[in-house]
Amino acid sequence: MLFSDIVGQKHIIDRLRFIAQNEKIPHAMLFTGNEGVGKLALALAWAQYINCLEPSEHDSCNVCASCHKFSHLIHPDLHFVFPVYKGSKSNVVCDDFIQEWRDMVLISPYFLSSQWYEVVAEDKGQPTIYADEALEIIRKISVKNYEAKYKIVIIYQPERMHISTANKLLKVLEEPPPFTVFILISSQPELLLSTIVSRCQIIKFPVIDDVSLSQFLEKKFPQYKIQAIHQAVILSGGSLPRSIRTLEQQESTQNYYTLFVQMVRMAYEIKRNKPKTNEQIKWVQQVTQLSKEEQKELLIYCIRFIRDNFMLNVQLKSLVYQTKEEEDFSKNFSRFVPFNTALNVYSHISKAIYHLERNGNPRLVFTDLIYQIAMYF
Ligand SMILES: [Zn+2]
Repeated sequence: MLFSDIVGQKHIIDRLRFIAQNEKIPHAMLFTGNEGVGKLALALAWAQYINCLEPSEHDSCNVCASCHKFSHLIHPDLHFVFPVYKGSKSNVVCDDFIQEWRDMVLISPYFLSSQWYEVVAEDKGQPTIYADEALEIIRKISVKNYEAKYKIVIIYQPERMHISTANKLLKVLEEPPPFTVFILISSQPELLLSTIVSRCQIIKFPVIDDVSLSQFLEKKFPQYKIQAIHQAVILSGGSLPRSIRTLEQQESTQNYYTLFVQMVRMAYEIKRNKPKTNEQIKWVQQVTQLSKEEQKELLIYCIRFIRDNFMLNVQLKSLVYQTKEEEDFSKNFSRFVPFNTALNVYSHISKAIYHLERNGNPRLVFTDLIYQIAMYF
């Protein structure tokens, strides 16, 4: 990873370069900030830079033997600690998952922790840095550096460390081995032992600025329109993986918007005693062709749309992010969504989600929903 691969974060890059060039390399650093802002990417770029054999003033050379091994994550002095899930097995340590970890990081070091958990636990349990990992860390740092000037130990989500591992790490940080650098990466540093935090040099990452994020997305996804990219940037809160997810989901979001508008119109016709039965059958058929996950996503989209329109109803436009199409529809629709309507419709949609999760028949759940919300429009 090079500094030039990093999206935005110019000030942090300058600070890290300055530390590498002018200060004593600290034995422990703590990178904090929201998920997806580039903490892991910069930990990798900085580790490569301080070990590069021919660094320039600005970046690693990316061709020396050290750079080659760092960029492929195979340097013998580069170690990773991250949450894993052992299920029914005993004595599971990070290295059992190192190939999965390398594969994920090599695709992109910008990912959300939930994406890693899917790989490692498949929703079966809470990934953790287990107690057994402490011995592994101590073993790795007690051997002499193979070839790197600085041995690097990157601990991803140290807040997920078992307490005994945290206590052992604390001892290591009190008497750090020479030429070893720990980089702790946390989006929830408030959950760490204060004694660990106080032994680290802290670097706080801001969110990625809109301009850098837009430029990155425009280059990487030329198939999307500029307006779609701007929308994704606004909705992402400065997190790169969130912006990609928003962009990729745009097609389904467009479909959900159409289904929502159709549902509201059908509900309105029912209230006027002019139900359009054929349209209802067609609509329900269309919805039941979606996967179960998509049906839930549709309902969550409906909740968001109702919430946004309630916000517009009470003149809180600044809290609402909408596409142009949603905005146009909401200009008229929001006046039909005062507090009571929002609350009741929200409650019916939540019940529909509840029934779907418990394997309720989607045909019945969605037909019911149209009739239930009809009372409020
Ligand atoms: Zn190099």
